[in-house]
Amino acid sequence: MLYTSTRDSRVRVTAAQAIAQGISREGGLFVPESIPKFAPGELDVLARMDYIGRAEHILAKFLPDDGGAAAWPREEIARCARAAYEGSFASPAVAPLRTIPAGNGALSVLELFHGPTCAFKDMALQLLPHLLTASAAKTQQGKEIIILVATSGDTGKAALEGFRDVPGTRIMVFYPSEGVSAVQKLQMVTQEGDNVLVAGVNGNFDDAQSGVKEIFTDAALRATLAADGRTFSSANSINWGRLVPQIIYYVSAYCDLRNQRRLWPGEALHFAVPTGNFGNILAGYFAKAMGLPIGKLICASNRNRILADFFATGRYDRNRAFYTTLSPSMDILISSNLERLLWLATEGDSEAVAGWMQQLSGAGAYEIPPELLAQLRETFTAGACNDTQTKNTIHQYYNRYGYLADTHTAVALRVLEDYRNATGDASPAIAVSTASPYKFAASVLSAITGAEPGDGDEFAAVAALEALTGVPCPAPLKRLHEKEVRFTDTCSPWKMKEYVIEHA
Ligand SMILES: *Cc1c(COP(=O)(O)O)cnc(C)c1O
Repeated sequence: MLYTSTRDSRVRVTAAQAIAQGISREGGLFVPESIPKFAPGELDVLARMDYIGRAEHILAKFLPDDGGAAAWPREEIARCARAAYEGSFASPAVAPLRTIPAGNGALSVLELFHGPTCAFKDMALQLLPHLLTASAAKTQQGKEIIILVATSGDTGKAALEGFRDVPGTRIMVFYPSEGVSAVQKLQMVTQEGDNVLVAGVNGNFDDAQSGVKEIFTDAALRATLAADGRTFSSANSINWGRLVPQIIYYVSAYCDLRNQRRLWPGEALHFAVPTGNFGNILAGYFAKAMGLPIGKLICASNRNRILADFFATGRYDRNRAFYTTLSPSMDILISSNLERLLWLATEGDSEAVAGWMQQLSGAGAYEIPPELLAQLRETFTAGACNDTQTKNTIHQYYNRYGYLADTHTAVALRVLEDYRNATGDASPAIAVSTASPYKFAASVLSAITGAEPGDGDEFAAVAALEALTGVPCPAPLKRLHEKEVRFTDTCSPWKMKEYVIEHA
């Protein structure tokens, strides 16, 4: 199985190349040339496995052992899956399903936040470092990889945890000094590991991001590093190595629901997904294309409802106001992974996709033909929810069902309920939960008590939320303010390159 680019069908690379390279040279995203299908009975076999077994099985379908130099022996895939998911998640199920006795009793929540940073990014970023080092060993003579990350919050910490002490890698994370929450900052500056470095940038997220981009594109610096047996890489969300791990939990959730006898064989199952960059929900589309009996994929947006508008009208238009919301990880106007959906839905029409992406980077908008929109809407339905509705949903789910949802998960719960009310469709559904409520404790506490959030002390909110609800705070967040601060450096955006050279 080879991979091609969403913008140029002449591109053909191995899985290892796609992962090591991250993005295709003309700017397109890597996609598998064909999608592997489940054989009859295969899902029954998967249902008898644990999460790591399921992970190994699904990864092997996309990382072929085809005998070439870039082949993936099964034992190597098994090693990657164990390194990612064995012992690093607080739940033995890795991605457990919780059933909520909501209405007709057919609502489950897939909790993707039991990893070391308490947010769903861990599902991919615990595995990516192992896929990336294996890919570099196959394609780049095993050069040492230096991962550079500019982060506005969750990704930086999840990448740090994923890459910490992974042999053959170093990771440097830059965060905007004034642009992350107190919890997020403390999560990063207390990071353990011998190969990690964290620095604040005196500026906003765009300054940090531009600084990193400049370093990536500095040809002279690249050459110096290469001569020294090193190379830069990124843990960016458009890397195929971040998407493929996310297919696993859709399949795993289906298996768990079947095992719980909450689903008939072949019965359609809906998923509602809180969406920003379109990476999570796209993995669900891949699972469906492989033959998993998924009915609807319900795309849930916050007030930044660019995707809800796209699925309603066929027009993607980023010329609009940008809102900061209570669900900051979904405050996004460019949903990069939508490009892969368009490629899949047009059966690989890379010319059309390249055209739309050109219009997006130029005029900031594009429109797909009505037939294509109709086809997408056979699987996707979309909705949005503002901050008031988000808080009301947290309040309701806690009071009615005793379920404590974070601000991102609440968006999915709300949009799913709206869909069910509007259509009367009571098919079994899973709401995907992407963060621990304790990661956004002040907002969640205020939603439950009705009181205005306090003066911004997140740790006081964590303690109050725990005392009020009795739901235990995950250990990595609870112990955070007892941990030693290891990184205090800050630098100006124009000094980032110097900083990297000095510490590389
Ligand atoms: C990143 C993130 C999302 C959005 O996921 P996408 O793959 O970008 O759609 C939702 N919730 C949380 C908590 C996140 O960290």
